[in-house]
Amino acid sequence: MSRVQASDDLAALEGIASRDLVALEAAGLRTVADLLNWFPRRYEDRRHFDAYPAAAGGGPVCLRGVVVDSMRRRLGGKRGFYEIVVEETGDNVLATNTITCRWFNMPFLHKMVAVGHEVILHGKPKEQGGRLLIDHPEFEVVKDGERNSVHLERIVPVYRNVSGIPQRRLREVVFALLEQLDGASLPEVCGCHDGMRREAAFRAAHFPDSLEAAAAARRSFALEEFFLLQLKVLWRRKRHLAHAGRAQGQRTALLKQFCQSLPFDLTGAQKRSVKEVAADMRVPRPMNRLLQGDVGSGKTFVAMCAMLLAVDSGAQAALMAPTQILAEQHYLTFRKWLEPLGVRLSLVTGAKQESAHLEIEGEAQIVIGTHALIYDNVEFSDLGLVVIDEQHKFGVMQRGRLIRQGVMPDVLVMTATPIPRTLTLTIYGDLDVSILDELPEGRGRIVTAVRKKPKVSDVTKFLKEQLGAGRQAYLVYPLVEESASVKAQSAVAEHAKWVRRLGNFEVGLLHGKMPPEDKEGVMTKFRDNEIQALVATTVVEVGVDVGNANVMVIHNAERFGLAQLHQLRGRIGRGEFKSYCILLTDGKSEDGNEKLDVMAETLDGFKIAEEDLRLRGPGEVLGTMQSGLGDLRFVEFLADTALIREARTLAEEVLEKDPELAEAPELKLLVDDAGRVDVS
Ligand code: ADP
Ligand code: MG
Repeated sequence: MSRVQASDDLAALEGIASRDLVALEAAGLRTVADLLNWFPRRYEDRRHFDAYPAAAGGGPVCLRGVVVDSMRRRLGGKRGFYEIVVEETGDNVLATNTITCRWFNMPFLHKMVAVGHEVILHGKPKEQGGRLLIDHPEFEVVKDGERNSVHLERIVPVYRNVSGIPQRRLREVVFALLEQLDGASLPEVCGCHDGMRREAAFRAAHFPDSLEAAAAARRSFALEEFFLLQLKVLWRRKRHLAHAGRAQGQRTALLKQFCQSLPFDLTGAQKRSVKEVAADMRVPRPMNRLLQGDVGSGKTFVAMCAMLLAVDSGAQAALMAPTQILAEQHYLTFRKWLEPLGVRLSLVTGAKQESAHLEIEGEAQIVIGTHALIYDNVEFSDLGLVVIDEQHKFGVMQRGRLIRQGVMPDVLVMTATPIPRTLTLTIYGDLDVSILDELPEGRGRIVTAVRKKPKVSDVTKFLKEQLGAGRQAYLVYPLVEESASVKAQSAVAEHAKWVRRLGNFEVGLLHGKMPPEDKEGVMTKFRDNEIQALVATTVVEVGVDVGNANVMVIHNAERFGLAQLHQLRGRIGRGEFKSYCILLTDGKSEDGNEKLDVMAETLDGFKIAEEDLRLRGPGEVLGTMQSGLGDLRFVEFLADTALIREARTLAEEVLEKDPELAEAPELKLLVDDAGRVDVS
């Protein structure tokens, strides 16, 4: 058999069909190396199948069996469902265990799997109507004569679907590829391959002898990937620091005046962060710092201090908020504290574009607005500092655009998402980090309670008590409108009910599909206590600050992610009143219960973030963030601190030996590419 080289087209493979090639090409897989790098999404150990479960509640299982019954139900159009009953086969000959599989709205499925077929199933069983059921399992029909082939009696890879080529066929193609591969043609990536030779690593990643071997191989590729990521990050950081920045912040009169005007002392963490920021601002290098702090930890005040330092040096400062509501809220806060000091402020939002709020003569010293508007509408004469309030959004990439407007202003990014350390290093690897790990004193306590199968009358009674005492409440629902497929209660439908239940109190409605003016109107009313109870979707999650609101009732709480629940809870406990976060759930989902227990146990955002990482894994956690890491293939290793540090060290060593990457043109190309993305 002739050997194929890593750089060969897949067409060079023996036994590959032209329609395979078409499908692979459409997925961007053209060369041997492309397909080698198409790593399995997961593995199935088909040497030992799982025993048929006796009850639901465990994780996903991999089962083997024969289809003994099937049923099709059509509900008109494409709607309908198809069920098969699968009976256990294999080692356990005496057993007559069965499990039902069900697919909705996939009318073609009965042609793919029918009575008499031997199947392999993968999915998570649940209980319904007294039987065990897997909805939409992944499955393969076993064909005769293949028992000892690629698909059975071994650990098999399961790939992400490539449209036009079935899972089994794809597996066969990769298998053939590995048989024909000339291992010597694989390029080394900067000696970071962890001792394991690349060819062996590819074999172990696709068709491993053990799950441990697969994990080790993947880890070595992850190291490669993280090395490249760190190289980009360090390159970007280096280039940023190479720019001449401004030295500002020597004058502190305004800052001192501000601190004296506050009715409270800054927390230790706030003081430390202000010092770190000031130190960055004073050196003639552009600051690039992340301020990480839980909701309510007082990031805004650190930002104000930094902005006052810039203003005192005669420069302008800008604050970018992710939404209009937040921009206005910041503006109100800034006016409250800074107008008495004679600082000129302006607000730039869609509704109020031309610095309408400029109350003092002269150009604005501090401009507050939403990202987009500041980009487009403001000409700064001397922008010294940019503060970006990202809340929990991870849009690091957009920074470049604004920064070009000034002579490399200092940049401070604030994020309300506590991120475990290892992720910070990856996501924000090019930033210096300050952490607010201390909440201001004098906050009302937050009590968190999980209520399973709650009575509406109890919730109503509690709400009436609190509202009667002058407080306000959030009632959060997972969806905007009632949808047939998801049985979650939705804000729109529930709003009407709460209006009735809460009688004399005003009940407002807030959801993401409302026009911005309506949203704003409702928020303003809530802030002014014209509305006492706010029925809402997660739009309230972002930075809304109403100190008088002390109750957060979250319906179907099991449907929210931990980070989201934490953000939601952060809306209360902002005033002096004792606060209540009530998590309502049907209690049926074990994962859900575990999640809610975490919420009940701790208020510490960093702990919650770590639990989140543990429960869901980094892939999921990052998937829900706009991370710019979307194309990372080995997110599962993001929590592997040792690996990330190793990658960082490797990248540092490479740049130390060869600062301009003159010896490694392929790496140079890569990091330059990253640079271009950054300023787009
Ligand atoms: P974050 O932006 O981190 O969520 P904020 O800056 O909005 O937090 O502050 C949250 C609340 O805490 C605000 O109402 C603010 O007035 C108050 N606050 C901030 N710092 C302190 C402090 N050192 N002592 C007391 N209250 C503070
Ligand atoms: Mg804030």
